[in-house]
Amino acid sequence: MKNETLSLIPRLKEMVDHSDRVVFFGGAGVSTESGIPDFRGSKGIYTVSRQESPEYLLSHTCLVREREKFFDFYRNGMLYPSARPNAAHLALARGEANGKIKAVVTQNIDGLHQEAGSKSVFELHGSVKRNFCESCGKVYDDSFILSGKGVPRCPSCGGLIRPDVVLYEEGLDMTVLNSAVDAVLSADMLIVGGSSLLVQPAASLVGMYRGKKLVIINYGHTPYDDSADVRIYDSVGEVLDAIF
Ligand code: NAD
Repeated sequence: MKNETLSLIPRLKEMVDHSDRVVFFGGAGVSTESGIPDFRGSKGIYTVSRQESPEYLLSHTCLVREREKFFDFYRNGMLYPSARPNAAHLALARGEANGKIKAVVTQNIDGLHQEAGSKSVFELHGSVKRNFCESCGKVYDDSFILSGKGVPRCPSCGGLIRPDVVLYEEGLDMTVLNSAVDAVLSADMLIVGGSSLLVQPAASLVGMYRGKKLVIINYGHTPYDDSADVRIYDSVGEVLDAIF
């Protein structure tokens, strides 16, 4: 942790102590310390490989028109079955168990918050842990997808299986979005971490927060940096571990 960050830890702890409803809003940067690459960070999928746009490979159009290509990217680029919760996930689960954290709103699709023990989790973009048959609705986990090749088909009815993930061109689940908005509006401290805050409409939730304590912990700059009361350009795992 940088010295500058260390000097801010007592202030962050005091802010948490004086809050009753802390909400965390996170993104792909929360899971990089678990070995899952983000999209726009220094080693992110967008930064490292630009042969084909991830926006297309993860789009509804690609799922419909080029299923083989879609599932090739999904299997090899989005599924990390051996990834385990890191210090960030564990600290947030601790914060919830201690009664401080009321909700985790995440753009991540890896299921690691739940694996760490968080119960109040709103997955804005769905989860790779759930894949469902478009015909009969039967649900399959990520290991089922990984155990096969090509386009996955339902063993029960032969229907096509797709991830329960919000693809580019698809809308968010309104129930999940409304719950996430309620959580943000009722928070008395909002901690944002590991997100470039460039993906809409998810990122706009940060703009809805009207409370006083907005903290952003992110290696890179975000469009909301100037609105933050505390801005930390450091590891989200190390900082959360120090304050919860
Ligand atoms: P992003 O890739 O746009 O931005 C990640 C940000 O986190 C970057 O600014 C980076 O500098 C920062 N970062 C990376 N590691 C960090 C760390 N250890 N500590 C502090 N900061 C760190 O991610 P996004 O804003 O979440 O948007 C990407 C979209 O892609 C999301 O919608 C998400 O669904 C999806 N995605 C999810 C996963 C996942 O589930 N783990 C992984 C990749 C992408």
